[in-house]
Amino acid sequence: MNIGVIGGGQLGRMMALAALPLGIRLVFLDPSDSACAGATGVLIQGQYDDAEAVSRLLAETRRVTFEFENVPPATIAQIAEQQPAYPSAQALATARDRWAEKALFQRLGIALPPVAAIDSQSDLEHAVTQIGLPAVLKTRTLGYDGKGQKVLRNAEDVIGAFAELGSVPLVLEGFIDFDHEVSCIGVRAIDGEVRCYPLVRNEHRQGMLYRSEPLAMHPLQAEAEAALTAVMDALDYVGVLAFEFFVQAERLLANEIAPRVHNSGHWTIEGSPASQFENHIRAIAGLPLGETRQTQPVAMYNLIGQLPDLAAVLAIPGCHWHSYDKAPRAGRKLGHVTVTAATQEALEQRCFALEALLCNDLGG
Ligand code: AMP
Repeated sequence: MNIGVIGGGQLGRMMALAALPLGIRLVFLDPSDSACAGATGVLIQGQYDDAEAVSRLLAETRRVTFEFENVPPATIAQIAEQQPAYPSAQALATARDRWAEKALFQRLGIALPPVAAIDSQSDLEHAVTQIGLPAVLKTRTLGYDGKGQKVLRNAEDVIGAFAELGSVPLVLEGFIDFDHEVSCIGVRAIDGEVRCYPLVRNEHRQGMLYRSEPLAMHPLQAEAEAALTAVMDALDYVGVLAFEFFVQAERLLANEIAPRVHNSGHWTIEGSPASQFENHIRAIAGLPLGETRQTQPVAMYNLIGQLPDLAAVLAIPGCHWHSYDKAPRAGRKLGHVTVTAATQEALEQRCFALEALLCNDLGG
């Protein structure tokens, strides 16, 4: 069976590497003729709203999935007329809009930071009186890796902030002085079965994910799984969904969902019997889901902007190198390294050695 993927970046590339042993080939649509997933499947070059390119993709596939959430609605409609698309248009529409996802969390009784929808400077000024400062102003759509947002610390920061973010629909969120950030990644099958990976602790630098480490038997695991399952059930979701939370005073506050395989789940390639990529493909192909437990101590580091020395990294035992075959550029995710070990102590030593080699260039 061929599966179509809208987007041809590293997430698609890793999906293809998981799909090939199952005898499933992926066909990607991407505007770039050098999209990095092209090395692992068929690449159709075309804009995401190019109906003719979408038709060429559909001619080669039996069902379609997505590598990112900002797919033009007309493209989703064109696909849905002809083939099953997972996750659904409704799930993508909810996850791409910060206000829609927060409204869903509220409806499902999932705790989240105080939030307000902002459509003008006067909305913002009113919301600041309700939510207080500091607060975080974010675009409702098209934000990623901390882009399209601004922290408002004092009254001066509020002046002109609506225009500064482009005079587009925004949300204002209370600033959470969190202890740490976690994500829960789960997969839901066509028949509604849900499986979740262990909670992952995430460390960001300049809004970009730097390091992820799964936390075995975290006290908030059951609560995170319940929230993730409630969201997936409400959206009749099929495939992998990532749910990011803040942890503050031993409670979870929902941040956002991503309707796709997620950077904080890359460790599952080496650290779980079935990776997030394999489980996503299994779910949308209608195959039984694979096991999601953690098999060994593991951590993942992103390689951003500039790659460290391959030989030096591989000289550290337990280091697994994943290059995305992308040209270096400040702030660009070029690859990741997963570190594994038999014990937590050995993992920490190996992580320490790896961190000394990293030369990330975040830009900005
Ligand atoms: P986001 O794109 O919403 O995931 O935001 C990127 C990063 O900015 C998050 O991972 C947090 O580190 C930080 N951040 C976002 N929203 C808040 C908030 N309400 N309070 C504190 N930090 C935040």
